[in-house]
Amino acid sequence: MSSAFDFDPQPRRASVAVDVGGVIVGGGAPVVVQSMTNTDTADIDATVAQVAALHRAGSELVRITVDRDESAAAVPKIRERLERLGLDVPLIGDFHYIGHKLLADHPACAEALAKYRINPGNVGFKAKKDKQFGAIIERAIQFDKPVRIGVNWGSLDQELLTRMMDDNQSQGFPLTAQQVMRETIVQSALISAELAEEIGLPRNRIILSAKVSNVQDLIACYAMLSSRSDHALHLGLTEAGMGSKGIVSSAASLGILMQQGIGDTIRISLTPEPGGDRTREVQVAQELLQVMGFRQFIPVVAACPGCGRTTSTVFQELARKIEDDIRRNMPVWREKYPGVEGLKVAVMGCIVNGPGESKHADIGISLPGTGELPAAPVYIDGKKAMTIRGTNIAGDFEVLVNAYIEK
Ligand code: SF4
Repeated sequence: MSSAFDFDPQPRRASVAVDVGGVIVGGGAPVVVQSMTNTDTADIDATVAQVAALHRAGSELVRITVDRDESAAAVPKIRERLERLGLDVPLIGDFHYIGHKLLADHPACAEALAKYRINPGNVGFKAKKDKQFGAIIERAIQFDKPVRIGVNWGSLDQELLTRMMDDNQSQGFPLTAQQVMRETIVQSALISAELAEEIGLPRNRIILSAKVSNVQDLIACYAMLSSRSDHALHLGLTEAGMGSKGIVSSAASLGILMQQGIGDTIRISLTPEPGGDRTREVQVAQELLQVMGFRQFIPVVAACPGCGRTTSTVFQELARKIEDDIRRNMPVWREKYPGVEGLKVAVMGCIVNGPGESKHADIGISLPGTGELPAAPVYIDGKKAMTIRGTNIAGDFEVLVNAYIEK
């Protein structure tokens, strides 16, 4: 018979810790939140501004594209500007196709980055492939930097895929096409990691990822990868998509993996709306880790969905306002009030579930539903503390929340 504890998160998978510019990934360290800019890295002003915004929103590592000489030349300047702003967020360089050349020609860039990300599917073909991959690994050894070997199914090593398909055919097709694809993704990461180690990159300088855009494939690939290696793992669903679809797909796949103890750092890749806020992906990553109980970043505001018992929108507006206030004040509160991120505030629409939910929060209110008296009981630390009446219930509760946090 299964016990209730069987449904708790599995212990974290043992992985080799990797130091990325002072942020530890793997080895049991808290799961790290990271993100990526979408600016042209050669545009120093825009990139500094976006890295700063992502870091201030909570991104502990930020990846930037290094795709040509101009962007490689900009990297040390971006690093300097961030330092002048007092931001020591580690920068990760995303290299494709000519990474070996850029790192060789721009040693200041190689030094300024805290990690290199390479994609084994596009470092070259046939004989050139191992040479170019090897050149990047040698730079990482020279500058003592970790490397993420990031396989992506959209740019999968075609040579390896063809070989795996041929092998499958010669053995009478024991695997489906989908299984061959998954196996190729996993093999590409493992073979590349082995090659990097042979060249001399220590195990504690290697992180692996295997990104696909389908939830079930992603879960399968990471489950396979985690059972065959102890390298730290970067989780992310690639091309997750826009809006709620991207959020749901990422949360479903990464949530299941982390529940199984798999994953040392996560990135939620969301396609931003035109002109949309890039920091949204950081917020979603933090919320995912927080709702699963793995990390705490910000007080939780619990709010009921509302129903026919409350026809006013006061409680939704109040919940939104309190959440916005908390998010805006967090950088200061985090410094001033250690532990504030563990608080829970409840804003409920009526007395059906209001008192119960409020009692489980640090501070909560049950607003008057339709037809109820204009009185709102407030609960603090599990006990009814007072009842707010009158026309400014929302404003009065906001004052109480701020006072509670400051207390
Ligand atoms: Fe509806 Fe009240 Fe439940 Fe909110 S707490 S969903 S208003 S019954």
